Amino acid sequence: MDADERTVRAVDTHCPYCALQCGMTLTRERDDTVTVAPRGGGLCQKGWTSPELLAHPDRITTPLVGGRPTGWTAALDLVAGRIRALQAEYGPGAVAVFGGGGLTNEKAYLLGKFARVALRTPNIDYNGRFCMSSAAAAGLRAFGVDRGMPFPASDLAEADTVLLAGANPAETMPPFMRHLAGKRLIVVDPRATATARQAHLHLRTAPGTDLALANGILHIAAERGHLDRAYIDGRTTGFAELAATVAGYWPARVERITGVAAADLYRAADLLAGGRRVILTARGAEQHAKGVDTVSAWINLALALGLPGRESSGFGTLTGQGNGQGGREHGQKADQLPGYRRIDDPVAREHVAGVWGVDPATLPGPGPSAVELLGMLGDEIKALLVFGSNPAVSAPRSLGVHERLSALDLLVVCDFLPSETARFADVVLPVTQWAEEEGTMTDLEGKVIRRRALRPPPVGVRSDLEVLSGLATRLGLTEGFDPLPGRVFEELRRASRGGTADYHGITYERLDAGRRLHWPCPDTDHDGTPRLFTDGRFHTPDGKARFIPVEHHGPAEPRDGEYPLYLTTGRVLTQYQSGAQTRRSSLPGEPFLQLHPDTAARHGITDGAPVLVTSRRGQFTAPARLDDTMRADTVFAPFHWPGANNAVNDALDPISRMPEFKVCAVRIRPHEET
Ligand code: SF4
Repeated sequence: MDADERTVRAVDTHCPYCALQCGMTLTRERDDTVTVAPRGGGLCQKGWTSPELLAHPDRITTPLVGGRPTGWTAALDLVAGRIRALQAEYGPGAVAVFGGGGLTNEKAYLLGKFARVALRTPNIDYNGRFCMSSAAAAGLRAFGVDRGMPFPASDLAEADTVLLAGANPAETMPPFMRHLAGKRLIVVDPRATATARQAHLHLRTAPGTDLALANGILHIAAERGHLDRAYIDGRTTGFAELAATVAGYWPARVERITGVAAADLYRAADLLAGGRRVILTARGAEQHAKGVDTVSAWINLALALGLPGRESSGFGTLTGQGNGQGGREHGQKADQLPGYRRIDDPVAREHVAGVWGVDPATLPGPGPSAVELLGMLGDEIKALLVFGSNPAVSAPRSLGVHERLSALDLLVVCDFLPSETARFADVVLPVTQWAEEEGTMTDLEGKVIRRRALRPPPVGVRSDLEVLSGLATRLGLTEGFDPLPGRVFEELRRASRGGTADYHGITYERLDAGRRLHWPCPDTDHDGTPRLFTDGRFHTPDGKARFIPVEHHGPAEPRDGEYPLYLTTGRVLTQYQSGAQTRRSSLPGEPFLQLHPDTAARHGITDGAPVLVTSRRGQFTAPARLDDTMRADTVFAPFHWPGANNAVNDALDPISRMPEFKVCAVRIRPHEET
């Protein structure tokens, strides 16, 4: 039998996991197994094993009400009936929606519309609040636009020097590392990560001190004449105020704050002095109660060096979730309407309401951010609908979230696997996976790509779009919630028209014909915009980028005698986000606590022994993994397993409302089994 006889169908699609959205060809064999092959680049272990979940024994294929299998009609009737009753008693805001950065553009769009039009609730936000919100806010205030990477990743091939602040792509998105091969690589990270070990220069900061480090490098760059004065004068505003601020970040002071030797600060400034240079941030810099200011500090450095908008140079952020970029453009965010429009902008409301066929006055205003929304469960919010998210693991202070979920009158979870959040649900609705659905995603460089169905979903499974359509119909909306992804995308195109993230010129036909289209793409004869700012203008009213002077304040919760160590969290190679999917794959992985041998010895902890980690908010247990590259004042835990997020700090950034996942004070001791 040759390959063609064994094959039923093959499609070109993309990996279901991270924002790199690696291309893959999926093939369905006659025995119904699915094989995967990379297309146009590599895949990491997560991509290679992604088909395992299609037929996983844990797959949910029947709606569950109170844990019991139920028909779709009865389940949707029940959910719609409960929504109507709760809203009649408590008002529209009694029902909330929680979305996800892995949902397709079509789902994110229809979810936002469902909340505003069908539910009339302001209470919608999504897990991207935990991921990209600080970078998004910092990009908006400096450049007037938020596109993670405002240039194609392939431009990095021509760069000479790349600085990564709080990014570990060697583990989170390994194929990205090919873009960094041969570069002078500067990595800012408290840990000697797989990426840091490949660096020309590793700046091993104390957790929560990146902002001071960036200000310090800028201070030295100014002192040594590395700044681009013509660029500063011609393309930016606010430099005098910034210069006054960074004057206070002299090397000895920055060394004291960050723990990075002054000599290494000078080396970093000199490595960034010439050639084609790129500065990229990720969650290590962003997941802080000062995350927006920290990203602003790195943007200030990039602008002062004259990088954004220059060929093979610039500033960007490495988006995390699969549709982390598109997921924040179409209206599932608390303060947004489609096209990356602000929900409190009267012009935006008028435009979107026109597309939706409703009175703009009926659209709710901005709602609470994710952590605040979760904190309202059981009080003002009586019912929650969760799509593509697992806040029972991913939210900070997660045991408190469990209590809130338990206090709801109605929790509905749409998922294809029984996540930890689904265990609290009154109703679980089984939905499609990536290889069973059509749609689009937007990758980390703002390029819109097609997701294609290889095969139909298992009997009993429906798409999230069908769920929204079915509920909207039951809530009395006879039109406007077509569940076909192509039709949803057509409406999304019109709704985004004229917005910052303008998709109007992007169609399934153009994408299927192989066009590489980055937004903004205003019309179908437009080639898209792979590189922003190359016309000499930023997306601000005067066309100039804004310097934002920012000051170091340190972690929201400093170490002290009672809690003498810092806990920081992050990802490992084989796992993705809350782990609901990858923990079920064949890839190896287990929770651990990484710490220096001296720290372990001081606490009577041996390698492999269970450690109890306690913060002011909660505790968790994990086996010790001793590593002499760790800072003695810091321990690290991956967040893919329930536990670590019990302890992390839920202090919020005042602008982005990002929780401070990346640093909190803890104490440790050997965990005695009982
Ligand atoms: Fe999938 Fe990201 Fe791995 Fe690529 S790098 S295969 S998109 S998880």
